[in-house]
Amino acid sequence: MQYDHILIRYGEMALKGKNRKHFTKQLEYNVKDQIKPFPKAKVERTRDRMYIHLHGENHEPIVEACRHIFGIHSFSLAIRTENEEQAIKEAALQLLLDNPAGTTFKISCRRTNKRFPIDSQEMNQRIGAYVLQNSEGYPVNVRTPGVDIMVEIRERATYVTGQKIKGPGGLPAGSSGKTLLMLSGGIDSPVAGYLAMKRGVEIEAIHFHSPPYTNERAKQKVIDLAQSLSKFGAKVKIHVVPFTELQVKVHQEIPFGYSMTVMRRMMMRISERIAQKHGILSLATGESLGQVASQTMESMHTINEVTNYPVLRPLITMDKSDIIDISKQIDTYDISIRPYDDCCTVFVPEAPKTKPRLEKVHLYEGTIDFSAEFERAIEGTEIITASPAAEEKAPFADLL
Ligand code: ATP
Ligand code: MG
Repeated sequence: MQYDHILIRYGEMALKGKNRKHFTKQLEYNVKDQIKPFPKAKVERTRDRMYIHLHGENHEPIVEACRHIFGIHSFSLAIRTENEEQAIKEAALQLLLDNPAGTTFKISCRRTNKRFPIDSQEMNQRIGAYVLQNSEGYPVNVRTPGVDIMVEIRERATYVTGQKIKGPGGLPAGSSGKTLLMLSGGIDSPVAGYLAMKRGVEIEAIHFHSPPYTNERAKQKVIDLAQSLSKFGAKVKIHVVPFTELQVKVHQEIPFGYSMTVMRRMMMRISERIAQKHGILSLATGESLGQVASQTMESMHTINEVTNYPVLRPLITMDKSDIIDISKQIDTYDISIRPYDDCCTVFVPEAPKTKPRLEKVHLYEGTIDFSAEFERAIEGTEIITASPAAEEKAPFADLL
């Protein structure tokens, strides 16, 4: 049976009062963007719901896209039938059979077309009986049904809507501004990016690259991570900063124990400058309290001192095992564990201070002039764009 449309529910977003329109418009924009490869499918936005009218397009790839689009709380496939009892019964049965076996169901009928001769109550019973007879072992459960099949009998046709499929929730990417995500090759920062995107934040990434201490494969790893993130929103720009010269100087000039702190401060200063240049209003990191030496309260305080920018730290209170779980779910884990050194592991001193003192950092930074290396790092920054993987797109998607 051919599906007619996909019904999209907003969830939390619908509660956002006056801002609701801002969020739903952004979601409409993102949904349209993701279904571009299917030109006959059209999006209709109403106050509480959104519809993707399929007009004959295959529903499967569109269902897959909906599973990733932030701001979609849940969605359901719907069948359009004639206003005819048998056709309606068959549609309801079909929607139930498309579900995992053994679940319970309920039929909720609404009849806005009063010329249809059977009232809603009676239709509930007739459809329920038909489904029971023909579906072997799907018991009715009107209180907590596994599948709530909605039947809407309208003037011209009847719409039968099936099982709720879970969307990723959150807010539509782009509805909460943009952040510059400090993206290393590790496990944490891509997860931080994903969580920021889930709150509606669009991301650009910044990566500090230190050739020849870190190689092209390390850079590729970061591009692949950004590409994985792009499927939750739009394409992701990566600012790749040539960091070697500055990092070597920090390593040579700053006393043992403080080089990592100073290096992090440099990273944050450069990130702020790049964000400013591109009109981005916040930074984001994958820091998690207590995880490593640079992530103690004292260390974060000392590193954070160099910027007035809001620094989003979506993982700050999370356990490593929970972070790893998310990285597996979003398919970044296997990329993150590829064994290439990043610039921090190459230069990390054997015993970095876990409680770096601000006066000492000021003293050390004050005696050495890093400005030339600092400016060259910014000037040499290269921008690479990571788009959702080509093979995930329909053939000729770019031409449509
Ligand atoms: P991750 O798993 O994200 O690498 P981590 O646990 O290794 O994090 P750190 O190495 O202390 O922690 O890095 C803390 C944060 O600093 C990272 O989450 C990331 O946001 C940022 N960062 C570290 N190295 C880089 C880099 N080379 N380029 C860009 N950002 C970096
Ligand atoms: Mg790391």
